[in-house]
Amino acid sequence: MAPQSWLPEANLPTADFPLTHLPYGAVEVHGQQHLCVAIGTHLLDLYALAEANLLPTHLHPACQSPTLNALLTQGHQAWTHLRQTLTTLLAADAPHRTLTEAALHSIAGATLLKPIDIPNYTDFYASIHHATRVGLLFRPDQPLLPNYKHIPIGYHGRASSIAVSGTPVIRPTGQTRPSTPSDQPSFIPTNALDYELELALYIGQSNPQGTPIPIEQAPHYIFGISLLNDWSARDLQSWEYQPLGPFLAKNFATTISPWITPLAALEPFRASATPRPSDDPKLLPYLHSKADQTHGALNLKLEVFLSTQTMRDNKLPPFQLSQSNPKDLYWTPAQLVTHHTSNGCNLQIGDILATGTISGPSDASAGCLLELTRNGSVPITLPTGESRTFLLDGDEIILRAHCDAPGHPRIGLGECRATILPARSSL
Ligand code: CA
Repeated sequence: MAPQSWLPEANLPTADFPLTHLPYGAVEVHGQQHLCVAIGTHLLDLYALAEANLLPTHLHPACQSPTLNALLTQGHQAWTHLRQTLTTLLAADAPHRTLTEAALHSIAGATLLKPIDIPNYTDFYASIHHATRVGLLFRPDQPLLPNYKHIPIGYHGRASSIAVSGTPVIRPTGQTRPSTPSDQPSFIPTNALDYELELALYIGQSNPQGTPIPIEQAPHYIFGISLLNDWSARDLQSWEYQPLGPFLAKNFATTISPWITPLAALEPFRASATPRPSDDPKLLPYLHSKADQTHGALNLKLEVFLSTQTMRDNKLPPFQLSQSNPKDLYWTPAQLVTHHTSNGCNLQIGDILATGTISGPSDASAGCLLELTRNGSVPITLPTGESRTFLLDGDEIILRAHCDAPGHPRIGLGECRATILPARSSL
């Protein structure tokens, strides 16, 4: 039987946050930022638990810090110790239940904040299905570039514009391609605003500059995961991206879900790496590990929903745009960590390595509108009769994820959502 909590709602089969999950977040309490974990429909305030002397004394400073970085700096033993303590406090036979209850608040009505300082953000391109479908749009004769199956492709993103779920996204303004080479480019609000369904991997341990992380050790460097939406302005992107890659089309906003699921909670939901067809090139040895190929991938059900202003006005539920799974990615999280440091690059605690758009083999599993509408040429019809090629002002995108495995309680990652606001008067 699954471990039970004294909070009955955490034991329901539909709960996102059962006792086996305990994702970390941050909440506003009297104008201050406190760390917390989610349990059932509640959150448990770590600052208050430390005040009540319910946490190990040596972890009080980290648990009373506004962000997770101090806890991560303490290392694996501290992470495990805290998780065990919290599990004990919330288990059905828990001691100190009255004191623990005093640190419990309902998530509904709480203001959730960004729980971690993110020094760096790298975005990969790990879905071969995404890379192939996008490639087909722009290079039908060679959708996949020759490097794809050898090297995890990525670029350095922008950490300063990462915001937590619920923060609106202002439509960006920028240069778009002139209609003929002799014309001036336009400088206008984007007409091709898109989302990208991704997972964020949070780095929990740093490596000294000049010291690559071998693939066998790479999983130890990841603290946890959350949902991530890499907002993209496709018209700005197509004009600016050559020869150096994405820039202003991507760095205006990125949204993360408020809960960071520790890797420890995801053990039952590991999967084997997606099988490489026999005619694919052999992996270079530094990217290959038997353990990683056997259980290095993550098996999660990901969903994307769109809610328009008209849908909300008519009390219609959000419309599901797609479903996919990170177990279909061509590269595993460990391969991304190892490749990133293979040249000696130093990762920092709190860094995000994002997977890139997570798409599957079918059209219904495409993780962005660029793929779903074939760059705006095939509109999507919504239940209201509205249609979309790209996002309009007032549209809200909601990412959700959950894991199921026989014999284990289901866990859900919480929501990553944001609404598009009109462009501001520009330069
Ligand atoms: Ca991306």
